[in-house]
Amino acid sequence: MALRDIKGHTSIRELIARAVARDTLPPSLVLTGPDGVGKRRLALAVAELLNCDARPEAGQADWDACGECRACQRIRRGVHADVLLVEPGDTGAIKVDAVRAVVERAAYRPFEGRRRAVIIDDADRLVPEAQNALLKILEEPPDGSVFLLVTSRPHMLLPTVRSRCPDVRFGGLPTSDIVDLLVQDHAFEPAAARAAAATADGSVARALETGSADHLQARQSAAAVLRVLAAAPNPKRRLEAGKELVGGRRGGKSTASTDRETLTRRLRALGTLFRDLQVVSSRGEAAWLSNADLLTELTELARSYDTHRAGRGYASVDRAVQALTRNASPKVVVDWLTLQL
Ligand SMILES: [Zn+2]
Repeated sequence: MALRDIKGHTSIRELIARAVARDTLPPSLVLTGPDGVGKRRLALAVAELLNCDARPEAGQADWDACGECRACQRIRRGVHADVLLVEPGDTGAIKVDAVRAVVERAAYRPFEGRRRAVIIDDADRLVPEAQNALLKILEEPPDGSVFLLVTSRPHMLLPTVRSRCPDVRFGGLPTSDIVDLLVQDHAFEPAAARAAAATADGSVARALETGSADHLQARQSAAAVLRVLAAAPNPKRRLEAGKELVGGRRGGKSTASTDRETLTRRLRALGTLFRDLQVVSSRGEAAWLSNADLLTELTELARSYDTHRAGRGYASVDRAVQALTRNASPKVVVDWLTLQL
């Protein structure tokens, strides 16, 4: 399976080829999108491109695996020692033993190829214990391995696992296309368009649910809180910083329900920043960031938020958003959250 064998998804294929050529492919990715659109095929194509023995010089258009060398053939036959495929067993679940086996192998250098590819298909079927076993290696990924989690139900993954893996989204628009559309057709300022696109999950409609100024302001509030908490201040200062998140919408009417929406929006923005901090800490190419325009600030913040802290932060934000949807008090949620970050 080479990239050229995959139908459509041109921008994904280009992104992957560029990252492999520059050696900036993140150590773990979640391939998400509807069933049957080619996610698993893409994962196999990544494995082939990484390990092809006869790939042409990088930089040409349509750069790809040859599809014919010994490595390419062994990958296609499913017998290459460095391409490990994990999928649900007879029970429909992926159990912890299966994950432990690949985690153990991933600790060694690749046997015959350049970079080991661990492909976990139907990753949403990983039992929680298996996800935790995987999390350990995602936190400190070995140089020679890349983990590709394939799923149509990414919300079934633990937030700590998701936080370590940038999404490659099939279906929906790439973030850069959403930014262009918002600017050209909806009169968004570029900064507001980027803030809106970061939390839109590939949907222009979702980006347009809220006014452009609100997206920008949500992200600014979230970034401000991260800056204050960077130095891990005392609890009093933390609770103080949380007020930046709970206040009502600036310049608009404030009611209990709009306050809740405003807070949710700010927390979603905070979540995208935490995930970006992990990208910056691990490899840091702007193509994998939700908030690529904030790269300078993210790089600065990453000195205070290493991958562990950013991963915990993302998971805490996720719990906070869920508590809000279950009608928890915004103030209680924010107080709890600021003490966790
Ligand atoms: Zn080849």
